[in-house]
This record gives sequence, C-alpha cells and structure tokens, in this order.
Amino acid sequence: MKKMRVGIGYDVHPLTQGRRLVLGGVEIPFAKGLSGWSDADVLTHAIIDALLGAAGLGDIGGHFPPGESEYKDISSLVLLKRVTDELTEKGWLIGSVDATIVAEQPKLGDFIDQMREQLSRTLDIALSRVSVKASTSNRLGSVGRGEGMAAFAVALIEGDT
Ligand SMILES: [Zn+2]
Repeated sequence: MKKMRVGIGYDVHPLTQGRRLVLGGVEIPFAKGLSGWSDADVLTHAIIDALLGAAGLGDIGGHFPPGESEYKDISSLVLLKRVTDELTEKGWLIGSVDATIVAEQPKLGDFIDQMREQLSRTLDIALSRVSVKASTSNRLGSVGRGEGMAAFAVALIEGDT
C-alpha cells in the first residue's frame, strides 16, 4: 500500500531592472528580471516548497537561507535537484507537480514547454507528470501593475508505508 502526500507552495518576487528573468530554469527575454538572493526563479521556488511541504520537511528558507554566499545567484534548479535527492533518500517518489505562474507580462506561452522539460529533467520524472500554466492578475494589485510575479504549485509524492 502506497502512502500519498500533497503539498502546496507559494512564492512572490519583485521585478527590477538589471536582472535576468528565469522561470522554471528557462531564461526569458524581458526588460526586467526578478530580484532575490538566488536567481529568484519564483516558479521553481513554489515547486520546491510544495515538495518540501508534501514531505513535511519545512520550507525553502529553512533549507537554503538567503544571505548565505553559497546560494547567491545560484540556479534554483540546483536547489530543486537537492530537494529531489533529499526526498528520494527518504523513500519518496514524486508523483506529479502542477504549477501556475501569475505574471502580467511578458507572454509566457512560448516558454512553458521548455520550463516543463527543465523541471521534469531535474525532478527525474516524465514530462507528462509536470504541468506549468501561466496566468495574469487581470491588472489588479501589485502583480497586476507589473511590480512582481507570483507562483503557486502543488505536488503529489508517494512512498511505501
Ligand atoms: Zn523565492
């Protein structure tokens, strides 16, 4: 009998000049990028928190504290890989991940499949198990004014009892 657990992740980062925009490990051409201690990949951060939450292992800030030089500008895919390895060591299999990016601009549709490929490779699961969607905030609030981007994710993990 398999045990199943689900987790939720949420993250938000401000947009600023002079930063690269990286979402799901994919660099996207845009006038601004997300600011943060790592590469500020808001999508990957939400997925990391969903996985950690599902396994009851705390959150991203506890695992990779901002301010530590080791994590300065690091690719968040590296962090995702470490979390994937930690779950594997604890006997968990990643069943599926579903995520939504909330961003007013730019249009992300052309990059979704690349993000899914990067994420599924890092998670070491089939592409069909990784879903990424893009939405807007309909011009409402800080995300709607283009001041930042948010992301939500859920993850399902399975293990043996
Ligand atoms: Zn973050």
